[in-house]
Amino acid sequence: METNKLTKMRNSDHSELIIVPGHVADPDMGRLLSRTALFIQKGRIVRIHRDFDTAQIPPGLEVVNLPELTILPALIDCHVHVALDGVDFAAAIKRWSDGDTWLEPVKGALEKSLDSGLATIRDGGDNGMVGLRTKKLINRGELEGPRILACGQGIGKTGKYGSFLGPGISNVGEACQLIDALKEQGVDWLKILVSGIVSFKDYGKIGAVQFTQSELNIMTEYAHDLGLPVMAHASSDEAVRLGIEAGVDTIEHGYFVSAKSLANMAEKGIPWVPTVVPVANQLKVDTHLHHSQEAQAIIRRTYELQLNKIKEAQALGVALGIGTDAGAGGVVHGYDYFRELELFAQAGFSPSEVLKAATRTSAQICGLQEEIGSIEVGKKALLIGVKGNPFQDLNVLRNVEFLLY
Ligand SMILES: [Zn+2]
Repeated sequence: METNKLTKMRNSDHSELIIVPGHVADPDMGRLLSRTALFIQKGRIVRIHRDFDTAQIPPGLEVVNLPELTILPALIDCHVHVALDGVDFAAAIKRWSDGDTWLEPVKGALEKSLDSGLATIRDGGDNGMVGLRTKKLINRGELEGPRILACGQGIGKTGKYGSFLGPGISNVGEACQLIDALKEQGVDWLKILVSGIVSFKDYGKIGAVQFTQSELNIMTEYAHDLGLPVMAHASSDEAVRLGIEAGVDTIEHGYFVSAKSLANMAEKGIPWVPTVVPVANQLKVDTHLHHSQEAQAIIRRTYELQLNKIKEAQALGVALGIGTDAGAGGVVHGYDYFRELELFAQAGFSPSEVLKAATRTSAQICGLQEEIGSIEVGKKALLIGVKGNPFQDLNVLRNVEFLLY
């Protein structure tokens, strides 16, 4: 597919801007507004001017005319790992402790994320704290990239799944020490590894849970007392149940989640980031991933079940966010974001429902609903522009032509 060049603008370079697009897309209403201009001051939307006429532009203001484009809120990925590249896991891990060799690949990941319209990403952590270090470089203006919400390292039991995500702890006391240390280092979120991962060899098999209910309760409460929300890596229904009971803030993965758990999540207002693409992408033929025929059948069954659960969750009123697990094996930063959107569409989401999940709901999941996720006065001017009507054809999002971040 022919792709047009992307124009990227940073809010920090412009104190005042007027964006005059062909249309503004309103994901809440699933419709396009024409003759609408967006007035931006210091990176915030200060006025949405309907029935706008270019003759009304006050002199001296910087105007960005985008007559062919439809403007939407910039996209949000609720689950990435900037420290990983989705291709060579072992090489990535080696770079974390090898000077600043990690920086170049991370730059590439950030660029691809911006190119795909992502202005905000929530990083699921890594043992090298690369995600957190990257966030700090971006915040200091030393690196170009989307805004990162970082959790530093993941918290899991020593000897269980996730040694690449964190140092491992052997008891709750150590977990609380690690939470203190992470808080001290400026994390936004905590990631707790409640379970192992889903098997591609044995259908429905998931790595064992790592914590008892009381351990998870204590850690979650400790985190909340420090003002840190908790994302729970929970790949099995057992892990999801533990997370719900402990009052975690988001359920990640949740393969094989039960109807009862989904109902409980809806009731308690705990959102779900179902990350379908890391499973679905195992079937891509053009990667290094080679699975046996049997494994491929298991992978297909696993992600198709996940699509059914997504639809079920939507019907129950569970808040669903877009998370790609970018950096995990076979998942490319930025590029595969659209693939996750497609999978939501395959699950039965309409284009406007997909867009809402990618913007407003994902903002809410990240705890940023007051700041981002929609085009409203007072919100940050994080915007993308695409050609065509995304409510009729989601494919227009494959080619983001404008980004304000
Ligand atoms: Zn992850």
